[in-house]
Amino acid sequence: MSKKVLIVGGGIIGICSAYFLKKEGFDVTIVDKSGMNAGASYINAGYLSPGHIIPLASPGVISQGLKWMFDSSSPFYIQPRLNTAFVKWLYAFNKSCTEKNVKNSIKPIIDLSVFSQKLLDQIKSENQMSFHYEKKGLMMLCKSEKHLKKEEEVVKRAVESGLSAKMLSPQDIKLIEPNIKIDTIGAAYFKSDHHTTPGELILELKKFITENGVKCLKNTEIESFDIDRDRIKSVTVSGKSVKFDEYVLSAGTWTSEICKKLGFELLLQAGKGYSINHHKETGLTCPAILVEAKCAVTPMNGFSRFSGTMEISSINNKLRMNRVNAIADSVESFYPSIKISETERNNAGFGFRPISADGLPYIGRTNKLKNVTIATGHGMMGWSMSTGTGKIISEIISDKKTSIDIDRFNPNRKF
Ligand SMILES: Cc1cc2nc3c(=O)[nH]c(=O)nc-3n(C[C@H](O)[C@H](O)[C@H](O)COP(=O)(O)OP(=O)(O)OC[C@H]3O[C@@H](n4cnc5c(N)ncnc54)[C@H](O)[C@@H]3O)c2cc1C
Repeated sequence: MSKKVLIVGGGIIGICSAYFLKKEGFDVTIVDKSGMNAGASYINAGYLSPGHIIPLASPGVISQGLKWMFDSSSPFYIQPRLNTAFVKWLYAFNKSCTEKNVKNSIKPIIDLSVFSQKLLDQIKSENQMSFHYEKKGLMMLCKSEKHLKKEEEVVKRAVESGLSAKMLSPQDIKLIEPNIKIDTIGAAYFKSDHHTTPGELILELKKFITENGVKCLKNTEIESFDIDRDRIKSVTVSGKSVKFDEYVLSAGTWTSEICKKLGFELLLQAGKGYSINHHKETGLTCPAILVEAKCAVTPMNGFSRFSGTMEISSINNKLRMNRVNAIADSVESFYPSIKISETERNNAGFGFRPISADGLPYIGRTNKLKNVTIATGHGMMGWSMSTGTGKIISEIISDKKTSIDIDRFNPNRKF
C-alpha cells in the first residue's frame, strides 16, 4: 500500500507538493482551512523571476522600514509590536540584513527559481495545460539616477551569476514596450524572467491533482495533533482521528502557528501585499517593476494587474486604502495614459507573504519531529519557487537525493 501524506495548506506551495508527491505514487490529502480560492497564491503579480536575486534581508532594509514607519502610504512598513514571535523574528531578520547574507543567497535563489521555471515548462507541456505563461522578461523602471545606479549593480551581479540581464535606455524601452508611453529615465531588464496569470495556473493545477486522486479537504482545520515521542501519530479532523505516514507543513504565513502547536518555533512573519486588477486595454505587453514605488505591473490574460506593498504587521483583513491608492497612483505616474477607477481601487485584493528571517525559504525536514517536512517562508518569491519546492518535497519524502542543493533552505538553521 502506498504511504499516506497529509499536506497542511493548499496554496501554490501545497498544490505543487501534492502534484509531485502524487507523481511519486503517494496517497496524498490536502487539508486547508479556507476554500482554497483566495490569498497570496491568487492575487500575486505572477512573476517567475530568477532576476530577483537580492533577498529581502539585505543591507539598508531596516533603516528604510524605520524611515517609512510613519508614512501610511509607504510601500514597505514594519509594524512594531510587543509580541515575542515578532521580536525574535525582527532580531534575526536585522542580523541577516548583511552583504554576507546577500552574497550567500544569490546562488540558492537563482538555482531554485530557474529549476522551477524548467519544471513549469515540463508540467505545461506534459499535461497539455493551457494557462497563460509568457517569457517576455521583466523591466525595472526607474525615475531617478540614484535607483538606476542601484539597478545597474544588480544587473552586474545577475550577469556574473549567469542570468541574462542588461540596462535599457528610454529608446530601448520603447522598442520593448512600443504601444504605451512610459515616464522613466531608464531600466534594468531581466530577460530571464517569465510571467503568468496566477488564477489560471493554480486552477488548472488544482483540477489536475484532484482528477488524479489528490483529496482536498477544504474549509477544514486540524482539531488536534496526536504526537507519539518524535512523530505525529495521527490528527483529528472533523471529529475523526486519521493516521498519515508523513506531514508537509505548507500553510504559508500561518505555518508558524502550526509549528507552535507541535511544540517548536519557526521564525516567520506575514508580509501583506495588495493587488488591483485593471480591465481597460492599456497596450502593456511587458511586465515591469516601478522601482521607486516598489510596484509590480503585469499584463495578464485579459487584464492588467498592479501589485505592491510589503506591510509586515499582524495578520489582519483590513484594506488600507492609502496603500492601495499609492500603488494605483504610482502606476498612473509611470504610465500617464492609464487611469485606475475608484471601483478598481476599492476591489483590490490582498494576501500575506510568508517572510522568513533571512529572505530564503524553509524547505526540509524539521529535526523536532521525524515525519514532518516544512515548505514555507518563500516571501516575495513563492510563485517563482513553487514547482521547484514541490519537487524537492517529493524527493525528501521519497528519501531521494534532491535535484538541487537545499542546505541554505534548512528549516533548522540558526540565526
Ligand atoms: C501582492 C503580492 C504579489 C506577489 N507577487 C509575486 C510574484 O510576482 N512572484 C512570486 O514569486 N511571488 C509573489 N508573491 C509571493 C507569493 O504569492 C507567495 O510567496 C506565495 O503565494 C505563498 O504561497 P503559499 O502556498 O506558501 O501560501 P498561501 O498562498 O498563503 O497559502 C497558504 C494556505 O494555507 C492555508 N492555511 C492556513 N492556515 C491553515 C491551517 N491551520 N490549516 C490548514 N490550512 C491552513 C491557507 O488557507 C492558504 O490556502 C506575491 C505576494 C503578494 C502578496
